[in-house]
Amino acid sequence: MRLQKLQLPMHYLFKISFRLGIAAVIAAGSFLPAKSDQREKERLRFTLVQIDQRAYLSLANLRRVHPGLQASFDKGEAQGELRYQKRIILFRLDESQYQSQSEIRELDDVGAIEDDGIFLSREFVEEILTELSVPVSYRFNRNNLLVVRDKPRATTEKLDFIYIDAGHGGKDSGALGYFDVNEKDITLTLAHALRAQLKADFPHVQLYMTRSGDRFIRLEKRSDLANRRNDKGRFGIFVSIHCNSTLSPRVKGFEVYYLAQNPDNSKTRQLMLRENLKFESSSYIRKLTSQLMNAQIQRESKTLARQVFSGMANRLDGMIKPRKVKKADFAVLRGSLMPAILIETGYLTNRDDLKRLNSVEYRKAFAEGVSRGIGVFLSELAKAEK
Ligand SMILES: [Zn+2]
Repeated sequence: MRLQKLQLPMHYLFKISFRLGIAAVIAAGSFLPAKSDQREKERLRFTLVQIDQRAYLSLANLRRVHPGLQASFDKGEAQGELRYQKRIILFRLDESQYQSQSEIRELDDVGAIEDDGIFLSREFVEEILTELSVPVSYRFNRNNLLVVRDKPRATTEKLDFIYIDAGHGGKDSGALGYFDVNEKDITLTLAHALRAQLKADFPHVQLYMTRSGDRFIRLEKRSDLANRRNDKGRFGIFVSIHCNSTLSPRVKGFEVYYLAQNPDNSKTRQLMLRENLKFESSSYIRKLTSQLMNAQIQRESKTLARQVFSGMANRLDGMIKPRKVKKADFAVLRGSLMPAILIETGYLTNRDDLKRLNSVEYRKAFAEGVSRGIGVFLSELAKAEK
């Protein structure tokens, strides 16, 4: 944003302001702080890009205006689709009109396509928000789109605890990065940052850590500790924090994992669940219940992984690039009797990632992103139960 004041050739300016814009945008959480109503409202700022003295918003940023707003663009067909709930807009960037529901509407300019992505004109963005009835209030100023929306309602009364697991520890240093960085130290720092953020965002939820210092804990013990809190109808989630490493120094990015459901894993978990149902005298009911519970834990783990992934992707916005939500057979997840995920926060073998992983700025963004993801996960659970 600072750069927009400099006199640089338009195209160049356009490119950097776009890149910077991205970084600036999802400083979102910290923007326009309004302490009093921070709980209910979320204020976001999206940087507009200037092309030929007109303001544009990137499609990537439009998606972030509201989590329910779906936007896609098919480069081959040069056509895009925007949805909010049941309302749909279709558009083409080479035509000065678009279709909203079944009506055709005229515009001066729909948008532009550049190397860096798809950009929609300010005029079109206003129409989109109105036509799709996206539940946000917004205003434009010269360089920004300012959005206020309701925070995803965290149904924290349903969640009793969050178990934070800092990967490795003690004699197990985990992966090694450049400059003798230890994975176990980074995961611990991130775990503490996450704890602080969750404490602020979910004051009624109990927070536990498998370790709060440099201590060795066996993998099975980690899920076991969390499972012990999961009794008497209490509901918790398990979040394990790790850093990745690989032979290629070029590989970078973060991933979120949930347990791959193979016959072995299902059987183990069903057996453990059955053990927990000792009070139920019918073995048939025990078996059935454990199967149902197993399937539900699996579904919820997947949703949790997805939401945490997009929470992080939104908040980190390029600091460390999003790779994928994946299934894997991690031992630490295998024994979990609650929704459980493992976050590979970035690659210690990549210099860019490593620099981020060690920065205060990243730590904060990571914690906010994960917390936001958990919030959306909880509201999705609440919706599913209605
Ligand atoms: Zn690890």
